[in-house]
Amino acid sequence: MATDNKVTFWGAARTVTGSMHLVQVNAQEFLLDCGLYQGHRGEAFQRNRQFPFAPKDIHAVVLSHAHIDHCGNLPNLVRKGFSGPIYCTPATRDLMAIMLADSAKIQEEDADYLNHKRKQGEPVIEPLYRPENVPPTVRLAQTVEYGREQEIADGVRFRYLDAGHLLGSAMVAMNIQNNGRQQTLTFTGDLGRKNLPILRDPEAVPAADFLISESTYGGRTHPPPEQLADLLGDVVRRTSDRGGMVLIPAFSVGRTQAVVYSLHTLMQAGKLPALPIFVDSPLASNATEVFRKHPECFDQETAALLGKDPDLFGQRRVHYVQSVEESKRLNSRTEPCIIIAASGMCENGRIVHHLKNRVEDPRTTVVIAGFQAPHTLGRRLVEKQPKIRIFNQELNLRAEVVTMNGFSSHADHHELMGALLPLAKKAKQVCLVHGDLEPAEALAKDLHGHGFAQVAIPERGESINLP
Ligand SMILES: [Zn+2]
Repeated sequence: MATDNKVTFWGAARTVTGSMHLVQVNAQEFLLDCGLYQGHRGEAFQRNRQFPFAPKDIHAVVLSHAHIDHCGNLPNLVRKGFSGPIYCTPATRDLMAIMLADSAKIQEEDADYLNHKRKQGEPVIEPLYRPENVPPTVRLAQTVEYGREQEIADGVRFRYLDAGHLLGSAMVAMNIQNNGRQQTLTFTGDLGRKNLPILRDPEAVPAADFLISESTYGGRTHPPPEQLADLLGDVVRRTSDRGGMVLIPAFSVGRTQAVVYSLHTLMQAGKLPALPIFVDSPLASNATEVFRKHPECFDQETAALLGKDPDLFGQRRVHYVQSVEESKRLNSRTEPCIIIAASGMCENGRIVHHLKNRVEDPRTTVVIAGFQAPHTLGRRLVEKQPKIRIFNQELNLRAEVVTMNGFSSHADHHELMGALLPLAKKAKQVCLVHGDLEPAEALAKDLHGHGFAQVAIPERGESINLP
């Protein structure tokens, strides 16, 4: 008798964070992603700590990519008893290793912060996981190259296709033999865009009966990536002409490498003065190392450039700042330069010091290259509030602020529609995840209008049967 195969959406359901979907097929349990839920500290802490299933019963994890909201809760899953394989591409494994190590440090700092605010008599808060939980997690990684069939249980196999979103990022195409009947499931993971620097364009989304698609930018449009290098070039040129510094809050791993790559190629082509670039983020530096080790993931243009210039990520020109002392020394620099530092929303990390030091200087430019959540310093900069508070000090915002949203490595509405439309006839059930309700509804509406019969936006904990 055929079993009822189903998917339960435990994360990135009507939100963009904490990607985690439980696939129950042929009496086996698999996870698609095991991401960290990021949000209000207290709530995130509770949400990440408890799994709504028994980790030891999970047969395997199939990972789409290494962004922390897709892999960041794996060490906790392992700590709670999971011991199966974690399938991922080779580049994802290497990126995941450094992302999780960085995340473990943040978990410890967060627990310290919560303990500091703890009232008398309340229990001590343990971090979600610690640095020592990371190596046992990475050891479970089992790499699968793009396009290779991988059996993960009797009658259950999958292959990865390039999602063009981050180095090593993948879509998952699953094939299930259910008592003589074949069922197919596609999970887009995070879907990239054509013509992003470094990465190959996303492959065609494989047709399936059951399609789980991201919907981050449903209803929204991005400028084409080709324009970005030139826009960035203009900003750097005018800032350097007036003797100022360019400060770029480093957003995610991937985006930093794209920015460095764009600047370096502009300078190589003589389109920009050869300014020093400082990448003031140990995580970004380590990630760049991983990028260098995986040229098999590069697009043709980047691979061809690599043949001519082995220094694509500009080791000669780019200074990777490791220590805090080195970072502080940048404060006394007077010559124009470009400083890229974490974090993206300017709430913490080394960028805050650089901003404090430079925002009152009208020669400075701050380039914001990602979404800024409400109530963050990044958002106040985007809004160009005349007075901003940094470390309890009121400062006058005299620096130029430039917002460049196009560096997003997610498909926009039209790109998502273009990618999904060929599946209209085949997909009997679409589930939209990884999007707030409004963008997901915008995408759902357009999909309905283009012949998709069943489009759901599952709530957290909702299960949907495979057709
Ligand atoms: Zn991602």
